[in-house]
Amino acid sequence: MDKNYKYLLLDMDMTLLNFKKSEKYAFKEIMDILGLTYTEDDYVRYSHINDEFWKRLEKGLINRQQLLDGRFSEFAEEWGADPVRLNEMFINNLAKRNDWLPGAEDFLKVLHDSKKYPVYIATNGPIFTVMGRINASGLAQYADGIFISEALGASKPDPAFFEKIFEKVGDHDVSNYLMIGDRLSSDIKGANSIGMDSVLFAYDGIFPEDLKGCKVDHFAGSYKELQDLLEVP
Ligand SMILES: [Mg+2]
Repeated sequence: MDKNYKYLLLDMDMTLLNFKKSEKYAFKEIMDILGLTYTEDDYVRYSHINDEFWKRLEKGLINRQQLLDGRFSEFAEEWGADPVRLNEMFINNLAKRNDWLPGAEDFLKVLHDSKKYPVYIATNGPIFTVMGRINASGLAQYADGIFISEALGASKPDPAFFEKIFEKVGDHDVSNYLMIGDRLSSDIKGANSIGMDSVLFAYDGIFPEDLKGCKVDHFAGSYKELQDLLEVP
């Protein structure tokens, strides 16, 4: 890299932890508890509904509570269950999951042990499930700080999310930070919104074809590529 960044902001879901896998098991466990027969189609349908709610939240069309109350309403009707209770079950199941993406823990350990950069986790999500998964996975031992949207009172891509991090780190110079994440609509759009450099990361090497007008400074299609980019031995 031609620039010397002082701090790394690392996204958590699908950058380090396998949210999709955790989400799937948390959803399946609800059906198990209710005595329903789980099929992959049910999860795919839930995942699609949840993604749509998150997109609406990122666009500011709904608030967090509307997301939490709304994403189970379709299943609640089908199963004759209370949507708020379903969401509670889901959150409790999710908070126990410790699913890393393959290679992520080794990468993060090497990065942390190198002491080249302070490593901050910068994630959207509710404190309860994020901290549950951080504790279950042991992720905190490799991070110098953890920033969660619910605790900051602002979510990626809102520039306020990053401003609050600058305050906590005690450095307001945006050029000292590098945002690393898998999601254009939150990580990259957020970095763009405040003038921060960014890395679009794809653990499986598959990048979106359309960058949707986002400016991406670096690409990394594996942890090895990310490690090389960050010049970590
Ligand atoms: Mg992510």
